[in-house]
Amino acid sequence: MHYHIGNLLVYQEFNGNCECPVCRIQAILEKRLVDRYLNESAMADDRRHEVNAKGFCRHHTQMMFARDGKLALALQEITRMMTLCDHLTATDDKKDAMQQAEYFAQSSKTCVICDSVDVSLMRYYATIAMTYEREKRFRAQLSTVKGFCLPHYAKLLQYAEYAGKSAGEYVRTLTEIQRKSMDDLILDLNKFTSKFDYRNADVPWGTAYDALPRTFVKLHGEESK
Ligand SMILES: [Zn+2]
Ligand SMILES: [Zn+2]
Repeated sequence: MHYHIGNLLVYQEFNGNCECPVCRIQAILEKRLVDRYLNESAMADDRRHEVNAKGFCRHHTQMMFARDGKLALALQEITRMMTLCDHLTATDDKKDAMQQAEYFAQSSKTCVICDSVDVSLMRYYATIAMTYEREKRFRAQLSTVKGFCLPHYAKLLQYAEYAGKSAGEYVRTLTEIQRKSMDDLILDLNKFTSKFDYRNADVPWGTAYDALPRTFVKLHGEESK
């Protein structure tokens, strides 16, 4: 096995412990970035410029607010708010108002952390496919995962060509794993609903007890905290 900085997290997180190992990798990347934007280096000019222009999305703002480093957050929010105010002027001109509407409709959707995570994840989708082609032992490890959330499943398929000559085999593995994980989850959901029938009170829950939260992750991905 060739561990390197690019596939270390892949080897670490690809196991049967969750509904999507890519979500776990994403959570690690998000936490690192949140910490980075809360420490001193967030005050560097180039970072401040980017934060002023894009800001942080709701989710990442909440992650930052839940941590220490409120001074760094407040300082960044001041200059972000000032940038936004540059586009907000009192007007009775409907065209100006529509331009403001267009700008502010987008302003809460842009996020420096989301953008950075997206770029890193693109490298991971390619790395996972390349690791599949190059390292036999990873194939065995991949077969232990319980599928992926649907957004990450779609991305892995889109980057499957990075598996080169093994792309067909890689796609077959991904699709088989995903289908099995969805089928297993449907079984668990059925069992979960059957437990609401008093006649099944004594039937053990097995893996069905958390079928709903696992379904949420499967459908939408796991939210990092
Ligand atoms: Zn995921
Ligand atoms: Zn974000």
